[in-house]
Amino acid sequence: MSGSNDHIGAATRRYGKATIGEAIKRLRAGGLVAVPTETVYGLAADSTDAAAVAEIYRAKGRPDFNPLIVHVPDLQAAKRLGQFNALAVRFATALWPGPLTMVVPKTEDCPVAAAVTAGLDTIALRVPAHPVMRELLETSDLCLAAPSANRSGGISPTTADHVSRSLGTAAPLILDGGPCEQGIESTIVAVDGSDYRILRPGPVTPDQLEATAGKPAITAGSGKIEAPGQLASHYAPAKPVRLDAQTAGIDEYHIGFGPVAGDMNLSPGADLAEAASLLFAALHKAEASAKPDIAVAPIPCTGIGLALNDRLRRAASPK
Ligand code: AMP
Ligand code: MG
Repeated sequence: MSGSNDHIGAATRRYGKATIGEAIKRLRAGGLVAVPTETVYGLAADSTDAAAVAEIYRAKGRPDFNPLIVHVPDLQAAKRLGQFNALAVRFATALWPGPLTMVVPKTEDCPVAAAVTAGLDTIALRVPAHPVMRELLETSDLCLAAPSANRSGGISPTTADHVSRSLGTAAPLILDGGPCEQGIESTIVAVDGSDYRILRPGPVTPDQLEATAGKPAITAGSGKIEAPGQLASHYAPAKPVRLDAQTAGIDEYHIGFGPVAGDMNLSPGADLAEAASLLFAALHKAEASAKPDIAVAPIPCTGIGLALNDRLRRAASPK
């Protein structure tokens, strides 16, 4: 693609052959590129370039104890960075490419910059399914550190417009591949010998994990921090959020679900996957509305509803 149609905003380019080339050039030079994945938009940099990784933390205002997920094209590439036991290989074979991040021990000669793992001896790895991110990974031959492309603590971006509104010129290039299909961050699983723990609920549900592993996740209990950066307040609009709201007050923008109509409805047919794909867009809309407060209808805690409620609890948590 070429010509003025590619150029939507100062830094936003519609995805295409030419723009992928421009993105790769930037990434190889140590720059940042915002890129769509099936979960949310990521702010990507070469994970082996310490200065580029430092720039991600700076652009997001992200605390340096919060490690980054590294995106790789396939399991073979993942094995150069992390150690995969039988259970990890089983998860990878069944659920990659897809919205599953696995935390595994780093390899001896893991080339990623130390800041990516925030000093841990484990690394978080994912093989994404989105065609734009896949093309970037396969064509560039880079392993990309890519947290969500928003200011730290704020609402995750599910469109290119959300990215540019949150990061402004801190995202010098945004590849616009349309809205993210899943709309909620990846499930994070820590693989520990023949056991696994769910560190963050997401689009891959506990039932899917159990069917793949042949057993349920174990719950933490070691007392050590399992997932640094999983802060109580996160994904948060700059307004108070009230949950389980069947009705809303005059001052509240009401996000509905199923029979609770609201000012907008995440899914009139009560489809949880549809609701997940629209959750962050709804929070962005509520944040931008004239109403000073936000209320959210009850959402069932089953399947991907677990992840939806996890994000909503963090959105509603006092800052
Ligand atoms: P984000 O990039 O915002 O989607 O967040 C990535 C999350 O992955 C972090 O907040 C951590 O909680 C988790 N994570 C990344 N690396 C590790 C690791 N080595 N061990 C445990 N959790 C990790
Ligand atoms: Mg994030």
